[in-house]
Amino acid sequence: MIPEDQDAVVQFHGHFCPGLAIGVCAAELALREIGPRAADEEVVAIVESDMCGVDAIQFMTGCTFGKGNLIHLDYGKNAFTFIRCSDGKAIRLVLRPQSWGNENDESREMAARTQNVEEGSREDEFSEDLFRKRGQAILALPLEQLFEVQAVESRIPGRARVRESIQCEACGEMVMETRVRLLGGRKLCIPCFEAGERRL
Ligand SMILES: [Zn+2]
Ligand SMILES: [Zn+2]
Repeated sequence: MIPEDQDAVVQFHGHFCPGLAIGVCAAELALREIGPRAADEEVVAIVESDMCGVDAIQFMTGCTFGKGNLIHLDYGKNAFTFIRCSDGKAIRLVLRPQSWGNENDESREMAARTQNVEEGSREDEFSEDLFRKRGQAILALPLEQLFEVQAVESRIPGRARVRESIQCEACGEMVMETRVRLLGGRKLCIPCFEAGERRL
């Protein structure tokens, strides 16, 4: 990836980190295998975690939450599926275990611990410098060494479309029908459902 692009994606995310580097690499692979930025909805991305790298995917591929062509599955995996709607070509990229750790145990452990680091939770023992070096090392790896590329069926869960909203019978707020939960015969939004369940 060219340096200016990298600056832009770092600016978008707010910092450079190993997670962002993973996302940059996933987006590069997607652009190579699936095609250019999604102008509208012709490319759909399914991300299986909400880690830093998802920002790179949104920025570089044009698949965004707002457009509805970015879907988050809360599986906690560094796995990214890209689907080209025109012909149904789909690939799933799975970060290989330890694909980006060095041979020595210390850096491998560091790799495992920084991989899913959340904003603000970065541990002090990992200096900024180490963090940045780790990110640069990821960017320097051949994409296929970093990711296993799987050909998958192009099943798109919960495509963006207009859903009916109904009123939660507890708080009165409108909620998408697919998010309604039933509790004792009442139609509730998720927070009200969870509050009701705790009282049971
Ligand atoms: Zn980050
Ligand atoms: Zn409610």
